[in-house]
Amino acid sequence: MARPAPGTGSDWKLSVGELHYVWWYIQGSIMEPDVRLRLRRAWGMCQRHAWGAVAAEASYRGGYLHGPAILYEDLLARALGAFDRAGSRRSPRILAWRLRDSGPCLMCAMGFHGSARGAFSRERSRAGRDPTAIRTIAAATRAHWITAVCGVCSGDCLPPRCRLHLLQELDGGASVDMACHRREVAELHSRLSAYARSFQWECRDTATDRDRAALLAAVGWCSGWEAGLALVGDVACPSVTNDGVERERCL
Ligand SMILES: [Zn+2]
Ligand SMILES: [Zn+2]
Repeated sequence: MARPAPGTGSDWKLSVGELHYVWWYIQGSIMEPDVRLRLRRAWGMCQRHAWGAVAAEASYRGGYLHGPAILYEDLLARALGAFDRAGSRRSPRILAWRLRDSGPCLMCAMGFHGSARGAFSRERSRAGRDPTAIRTIAAATRAHWITAVCGVCSGDCLPPRCRLHLLQELDGGASVDMACHRREVAELHSRLSAYARSFQWECRDTATDRDRAALLAAVGWCSGWEAGLALVGDVACPSVTNDGVERERCL
C-alpha cells in the first residue's frame, strides 16, 4: 500500500457531497465494524477529510465530540502498541511498518472529493463548513495543543512530528528518538482517555482544557497538521507560561 505524501494541502472545507456523508457518518456509521476497521487501517482519514470531519462534527454537535474522542483514543492506543513492539526490539523499521497506512482514507476510497455533490440542505451545508465551534475549542485549549504541532508541517522545525513526517524520517534512515516520540504519544493518549471518560455521566465535567486539546493534537498526529493549521492555527489565546517559560510558538 503506497503511503500518502505528508502535507497534502491546507484545504479543510468539505463539499456538499462530503458533508452529506459526514452527517450520516457521525449519526452512527462511525461505530460500524467495517467503518472502524477502515478508520484503523488509515489512522483515521486523510488530513483534509480528518480535519473537515472534526470541524463539521463540532459544528453539528455544538462542540460535543464524543465520537472523535473514542476513535482517536483507539488510534493512539494502537500507536502506543507500535512503539512498544518496536522499542522492545530497538527497531525503527518495525515502528515504520506498524505506523504505516494499511488502507486508504475511507472517504477518498468512496470517491468523495472537493467538488462532490449530494442532496443536502443548504442550512446543513452551511453549518458543516462553519468553523466557529472548532475554533472556539481550539482557542480555549491552544496553550496545550500548540506544543504538539509537527515542526515539518508548520515549517518551524521544532521537534514534534506527526505520524506521516515521523514515517518519512524513519524511511529516510534519520536518527529518531523513539522513546521521546513514545512519551509524547503516551501523554496524548492519557489526556484523550480522560476526555473520552468525561462523556460518561459519572465523570461529567471532569475534562480539562489539556484533555480537550489532546483531541486536536491526536488528529494532527495521525493525519498531519497542514489543514489543521489552516483551520485553527490563527486562533488567539493568551500566551502560556507553565514553569515560567514562554512556550508560545510562532506559526
Ligand atoms: Zn480522504
Ligand atoms: Zn507533519
